[in-house]
Amino acid sequence: MALIVQKYGGTSVADAEKIKNVARRIIQTKEAGHQVVVVVSAMGDTTDDLIKLAQNITDKPAQRELDVLISTGEVVSSALVVMALQGMGHQAISLNGAQAGIQTDSAYSRARILRVESRRVVKELESGNIVIVAGFQGITKDMDITTLGRGGSDTTAVALAASLGAARCERYTDTEGIFTADPRIVPEAQRLDEISYDEMLELATYGSKVIHPRAVEIGELYSVPILVASSFNHKPGTLIHREVSMEIRNKVRSIAHDLDVAKITIVGVPDRPGIAASIFVPLAEAGISVDTIVQNASLENITDLTFTVARSQLQKAMAVTEPIAKKIGARECVSDAKLAKVSVVGTGMQNAPGYASTMFKTLSDKGINIELITTSEIRITCIIDETKVKDAVRALHHAFELDKKPSLK
Ligand code: ASP
Ligand code: MG
Repeated sequence: MALIVQKYGGTSVADAEKIKNVARRIIQTKEAGHQVVVVVSAMGDTTDDLIKLAQNITDKPAQRELDVLISTGEVVSSALVVMALQGMGHQAISLNGAQAGIQTDSAYSRARILRVESRRVVKELESGNIVIVAGFQGITKDMDITTLGRGGSDTTAVALAASLGAARCERYTDTEGIFTADPRIVPEAQRLDEISYDEMLELATYGSKVIHPRAVEIGELYSVPILVASSFNHKPGTLIHREVSMEIRNKVRSIAHDLDVAKITIVGVPDRPGIAASIFVPLAEAGISVDTIVQNASLENITDLTFTVARSQLQKAMAVTEPIAKKIGARECVSDAKLAKVSVVGTGMQNAPGYASTMFKTLSDKGINIELITTSEIRITCIIDETKVKDAVRALHHAFELDKKPSLK
């Protein structure tokens, strides 16, 4: 008997029929002899709808009240899943984030989990219950309700699995796992049987929407294997874990893309100590998360500085940057919101030459201009025009032979 944490996303619990389908799957796991803890998301678009509702009341809803409101979506689905299980003759109980012991800081709408006090969950399991936990939410030490940021139920599930010492966390949505590229763009994309935490973290951070990067991070930290699979069939899915069989895999594992990219360039920046700090400290203080930063080598002590932000933060970032640019005597500040990132990711790329050149050659053969390049040890990212992104992903998928099953040769 193992303890398994399952998580079902919003599309998997979108209506009554789907909730009953989820209940049947939970029962199968229970009947295979396991203890089951389940984390659920809100039904379908509930969270978006609740946010819109708040915005119809006031432009600036208080963060605390917004968290109280949007946390209810997951509470609804947890109770309904329990009702479905009980209707099928099984013993189950729902717990909200506070009852499940998800303790967080008080950063409303983006709270971090400080610890998981899982005593209540353990007690319910011991009395034979299937435990259904409302994802995405926690409680501060002053008993205020918080939410963990959009997509936060993944984080709840992996944190609970870590705290309970679960054998694994199974995460079910409407996608069948992690693919070598988005199958909507590359129909011949292959499902990966397994992937390492590091690779998954890069993919999730650079645009793969399949699992939230924070959940992967916790999984890696506490060595929780995470299975990503579909709740609509019984295909095997993708296992995210540490030990990926080194020999039988391609060196590039997958291609991620992200359309949420905007770029700001400060032109003619005087090159002297303290300039970068004078720009990026105020951006951080304004809560703007800056991604790629590139500074050119300076000619005659004048340089250009470029960085990227999410499109939704471009206006705010320009409002912070423009006055600073003026103050430090830069020539001008320009922005472009129509960019995209395309990234190739794979642990096998470390210490092996030639990957970057293949990527650049492939893009150049397609006539795609590269605006910026960034790398990690296991990732190469090019920032390109958004209209070229599908072409780029398809061409790279082909160039790195990801349409072929990896072999031992
Ligand atoms: N319901 C929340 C959202 O839509 C959390 C989640 O689905 O994980 O962001
Ligand atoms: Mg959702």
